[in-house]
Amino acid sequence: MSDVIKLLSDHVINQIAAGEVIQRPASAVKELMENAVDAGATKIKLIIKDAGKTLIRVIDNGSGMSDTDARLCFEKHATSKITTADDIFSVTTNGFRGEALASIAAISTVELKTRTVDSPTGTLVEIENSKFITQEPCQSEKGTSISIKNLFFNVPARKTFLKSDQVEFRHIMEEFHRIALSHPEVEFSLFNNDEQLFHIQPGSLKHRIMALFGNTYDQKIVPVVENTNLVNISGFIGKPEYAKKTRGEQYFFVNHRYIKNNYLHHALQSAYTELLAKESYPSYFVFFDIPPGKIDVNIHPTKTEIKFEDESMIYAILKSAVKRALGQHNVVPPMDFDREGAFEISPIKKTDIIRQPQINLNPDYNPFAEEARTVISRQSSAVSHPPQLTTDDLQLITETEAGTQVKWHEAWGKEYIIVSADEKLILINQRLAWEKIFFEEASAAFQKHENLPSQKELFPQTIQVSTDDAAIMTTLLPELKCLGFDINDFGKQTFIIYGIPSGVESGAAAAFLEGVVENYKNTIESEIKNPGNSMLAKSYARKMAAKTVKILSQEEQALLIDRLFRTHSPAIAPEGRHVFIELSPDTIESWF
Ligand code: ADP
Ligand code: MG
Repeated sequence: MSDVIKLLSDHVINQIAAGEVIQRPASAVKELMENAVDAGATKIKLIIKDAGKTLIRVIDNGSGMSDTDARLCFEKHATSKITTADDIFSVTTNGFRGEALASIAAISTVELKTRTVDSPTGTLVEIENSKFITQEPCQSEKGTSISIKNLFFNVPARKTFLKSDQVEFRHIMEEFHRIALSHPEVEFSLFNNDEQLFHIQPGSLKHRIMALFGNTYDQKIVPVVENTNLVNISGFIGKPEYAKKTRGEQYFFVNHRYIKNNYLHHALQSAYTELLAKESYPSYFVFFDIPPGKIDVNIHPTKTEIKFEDESMIYAILKSAVKRALGQHNVVPPMDFDREGAFEISPIKKTDIIRQPQINLNPDYNPFAEEARTVISRQSSAVSHPPQLTTDDLQLITETEAGTQVKWHEAWGKEYIIVSADEKLILINQRLAWEKIFFEEASAAFQKHENLPSQKELFPQTIQVSTDDAAIMTTLLPELKCLGFDINDFGKQTFIIYGIPSGVESGAAAAFLEGVVENYKNTIESEIKNPGNSMLAKSYARKMAAKTVKILSQEEQALLIDRLFRTHSPAIAPEGRHVFIELSPDTIESWF
């Protein structure tokens, strides 16, 4: 057989990359506006014709580019923003992958005019289908004007997937909102089919919100602030009475970059519990300031998803900050926790030196090696002798559920938390409490056909399994998706893991899946009918909970208690064991 492998041309590579980075006109708008911000512009003008299908033009007064750069910027991996791979852990710019302009140039006609401050004339470059048509000197203001015409002209498939002009323009507006919100210090204007829709002056964040969403926002939002040595949070949150029926204005920014994050959304939304009508969503405009080394922005081509090193701490801090903001502005009834809001993390001082934490990796360490064995044996014993709870037990326990007032709580070693609540002492088994929480989270996801937060794998993992296991994996794929796994069946007993549930370490994902398949086989053998969802939820819960064995800080305990008592019958773990034991004053007295 003759050789069949050939190297793709740069043009084809760029067209493929464009499929990831530029999905619709709004994606091009995002990339161009981000470049303008990165170039230090203080004025940015966006001009749109026919929802971007005919023209997208961005004009900025930023640094501009030299003659050579004006040509080089269209090459793939051409960027001025990083030099080494390590640099991406300290980037403060929006871009750094150097693929946006190369991608755009592969699927449209581009005209670039640019001039730096120290050059008397500017440069005009025209490029079509990745080929340079013109490069010549031209008259130009300082800064850059870049026009994209006929986007997707050579990608008909993509073009037919575009929605109506109305819908595409709405996506463009959304990108415009995100960038304008993240940079209130920059002046922005927007023209659509020659009509000026916005002209926004630099100002405070609150002014920016009002300029974009209407002056009534003055009354609708309250400030939120929390400074800790892990993260500084600032911004505005909507008063509960103005919550909307659809997910409306909900914005998280991390170091001035707009991001999507369901987990943090949940933190915020849950701080409003009982204040919101059913199925309504508060507005929020929340900024996180965090040392760049503590996040990874390079997990997604469009960089709207990022990975935090300390996601669960940020969850707790955000939730507490929002509760406190609502409390301070008298929009909430009294809180459950006496110490709510008082985070004992000292605010960062100017003199503090922030050290990047050192992580020592043991390459041979397999976090589930020991666990996998104990899990399976526990599973099979649980199936044959389920722990028995009497009806009395159940009644006694369910009384605890609602409205438990927590006075104080303390970790007792790595396994237990002692809680003083409403004249009762409660001894919580930490691991079982997490099992309960994760089990409910998973069950709810299955029921609602929703997916739990997932994190993209930087390097997708390939796993190969036996034929039997492959068949099981294939049946379980939809449920695994709900749990936050993004797995592709590659055929031939091979699966590629692109994403894993938030909170599972990358290295542990394969072992986790093996454990799940193993449990599944055991449950089928024990002839339980229809083991599917509940078995998966249990495996998931057990695996996730296994990692939580450590002495918890006060904040982490509070978070655990709070989440536990929001579950249905918190006292009973998925396998039927007690999650906690309560001691009433009567019981205690009877001992003496
Ligand atoms: P990235 O932003 O990831 O570096 P791009 O393809 O978006 O990649 O841009 C490539 C390079 O072109 C940038 O790194 C920057 O040096 C230059 N550039 C792009 N847009 C502008 C602009 N509006 N003003 C000045 N320089 C720009
Ligand atoms: Mg860019």
